[in-house]
Amino acid sequence: MDEGENTSQTDESVDDSGIAGDLSGTDEGDDGDSDPTDTDLDDPPSADLTEGNSVESGPAESESVESESAESEPAESHSVTDVSTDIDVGSGGRDRSSTDVDFDGVVLDDDDEENQGLFDDLLSGEPIFENKEVLRPSYTPHELPHRNDQINRMATILVSALRGETPSNILIYGKTGTGKTASAKFVSQELESTSQKYDVPCEVEYINCEVTDTQYRVLAQLANTFIEENQAVIDDRLDRCRELRSVAVDDSTALSDTEFATLDELDARIEELETDADEMEEVPMTGWPTDRVYSTFFEAVDYHERVVVIMLDEIDKLVEKSGDDTLYNLSRMNSELNRSRISIMGISNDLKFTDFLDPRVKSSLGEEEIVFPPYDANQLRDILQHRADIAFKQDALTDDVIPLCAAFAAQEHGDARRALDLLRTAGELAERSQAEIVAEKHVRQAQDKIELDRVVEVVRTLPTQSKIVLFAVILLEKNGVHNINTGEVFNIYKRLCEEIDADVLTQRRVTDLISELDMLGIVNAVVVSKGRYGRTKEMGLSVPVEETEAVLLSDSRLGDIENAQPFVQARFDN
Ligand code: ADP
Ligand code: MG
Repeated sequence: MDEGENTSQTDESVDDSGIAGDLSGTDEGDDGDSDPTDTDLDDPPSADLTEGNSVESGPAESESVESESAESEPAESHSVTDVSTDIDVGSGGRDRSSTDVDFDGVVLDDDDEENQGLFDDLLSGEPIFENKEVLRPSYTPHELPHRNDQINRMATILVSALRGETPSNILIYGKTGTGKTASAKFVSQELESTSQKYDVPCEVEYINCEVTDTQYRVLAQLANTFIEENQAVIDDRLDRCRELRSVAVDDSTALSDTEFATLDELDARIEELETDADEMEEVPMTGWPTDRVYSTFFEAVDYHERVVVIMLDEIDKLVEKSGDDTLYNLSRMNSELNRSRISIMGISNDLKFTDFLDPRVKSSLGEEEIVFPPYDANQLRDILQHRADIAFKQDALTDDVIPLCAAFAAQEHGDARRALDLLRTAGELAERSQAEIVAEKHVRQAQDKIELDRVVEVVRTLPTQSKIVLFAVILLEKNGVHNINTGEVFNIYKRLCEEIDADVLTQRRVTDLISELDMLGIVNAVVVSKGRYGRTKEMGLSVPVEETEAVLLSDSRLGDIENAQPFVQARFDN
């Protein structure tokens, strides 16, 4: 029962959001580069799939290459861009007579074409990008067109924090790429900067529950953040008390304007602060009983007066993984806190996630609900245009590039992240083919590449049993079987399981797995009636056979299947 429920939750979130979310990259800096669309632009799209093994090693390698160059050599890559701009190598030929630029004879010294080094060609191409970073998921835009309503609603609710009152809890819903994280972060930055301006104690704590996905970790992260802040507050107070003391020792009137009547009182206060500082103990990343973590967090947050907005992004992932205990505990805290107040802002990609919540949690968390609808193609155009203006050189895009990216992404449930990925990938493909300008065909190539990357990632992360089922479908398809039915899949599946020593599931379970593959867009299954023989599912593969097979075989367990041909043959013998 429990298991069944979990499975269905997992499926749903994968269906709803997991794919796009996982694949189009997380928005948090750290793993921003895991974005598969970043991968391997050194090969033409799909080339990296022709050999089983390169599938796994390819992205990993190129990832490290990319992040290296991004992190450790920013200065150099800039100078590369500057160089090519200044001397116009691309269009004007190689004009060595230009005396403005001194390259110390390294880059463009020699007239002899044969002496062109590895980087000369690349360097001489007219660069398309002005600032590619702007198109990456990690970039936080300063402007968020078409999100005014949502941003204003958040602000209207959260403004009470600046008045020292507790804002209602907020639940934000919307599919991936609808600007939830970007908007929420924008609002929280504004909130914090305003609170500093007016010197009101109001803080926002952002937690990405996809990463911090258990109650222990959420509470520990919060506790440690507050402990660190409290320590700074204590240090500050101690400094002031000690300073006051040094004056008051000689001049007792120094205390007259303070809360301390006597020097003894001041000393007592200093001692108290010192004890507080000593007693504050950071929560280790594992090992404590949860109630101890909870009470540590509780005391840390309540150490002084403040309103805290706890922003739980991807909150559906937390509930899915660890249930709703965290939310239950957090939502009850205000009645027990003395000095501080907390308010929860949950952000979910899964519109139905509250179905799994305890009714009390559900009503408390959903005091205010804000929906982020998908963007339509026109809105996506605006968003892309804003970014493209900063990201690309002038006139680097033909007129149809942005509308086409917008149209593709609008089909993909109005996902702005997908739109930006497309635009960036199109630019990279154009750059790599040494084109002067990004054109429609680059967007189409980018669309294919991203789609293939998505398939690869989905297939790669399937559970083993689903992989075996999928492999059975592939074997049948490769042998020219059309309208494959469940029984045929099951027969091959059984043999494959025996071959690699895997448990054999019932035909019913296999049928379920086929439905899941169908939902993921990997196979396309339809139910057909066989008259008095009942009904069966007939299916075909919706993804490229070769590439998908390569990904499956890169799994160490399935890789053991050396020659699968006999299994399929057996089907015809039966
Ligand atoms: P979500 O959290 O809903 O999945 P994000 O806020 O991470 O979506 O947005 C995905 C990407 O699209 C980010 O790069 C973000 O900067 C960008 N984006 C989304 N909405 C807008 C908008 N209205 N204006 C500009 N950029 C946007
Ligand atoms: Mg998000």
